[in-house]
Amino acid sequence: MQINNHFAIGLILASITHYFFDFTLLEFSMICFFSFVSDFDVIFTKFAIDQNHRNLFTHSIIPSIIIIIIGVLINWIALIISGISYFIHILVDTFDWGTNLFYFGHRNVGLRLLISKEEQENLIFYLGQYKNPASFFDFKRYRSKIWLSMNVIIFLLMMIFVLIYALEYSYLISFYFISLFFHLYRHFHLKKIEAS
Ligand SMILES: [Zn+2]
Repeated sequence: MQINNHFAIGLILASITHYFFDFTLLEFSMICFFSFVSDFDVIFTKFAIDQNHRNLFTHSIIPSIIIIIIGVLINWIALIISGISYFIHILVDTFDWGTNLFYFGHRNVGLRLLISKEEQENLIFYLGQYKNPASFFDFKRYRSKIWLSMNVIIFLLMMIFVLIYALEYSYLISFYFISLFFHLYRHFHLKKIEAS
């Protein structure tokens, strides 16, 4: 999933749990932050197996388990929820392209709805059909009706839960639109490259 979707899911989790634990702005933002922070591992892509950032340690379940354990040890509920927020990101990533869930197995696991077995086996061929290999992944997303409907559903749920449970922090929704803009800009930029 893209950063805006991960953030939206984090915001939903933060809003629901805020109802029970009455988080401060810092705690509330921290839960949202942990919902997308793992995607910054793209800067280390060149160190990843198959040059895929989802094979990195940061896209396994291990960091979330460590965060949850620390949260339990220091008895900080917001940190425990942040660990769950991180965990959900990794779980959600198994649905579209898959992720290296257990790390030590070094295998990309998950439903991997956006890529077929045939495409996976001949990935180099498919990537070679584009001027920028990133276009293959980007275009598969935007052509997928399941993926597009998931975007709409997640967005609507985010709006509903924030407005019901965390109205005072609803301005954080602005980050959703900033990250959505970033992804849309990238999408149309890739389209331009491929059309040129
Ligand atoms: Zn991710």
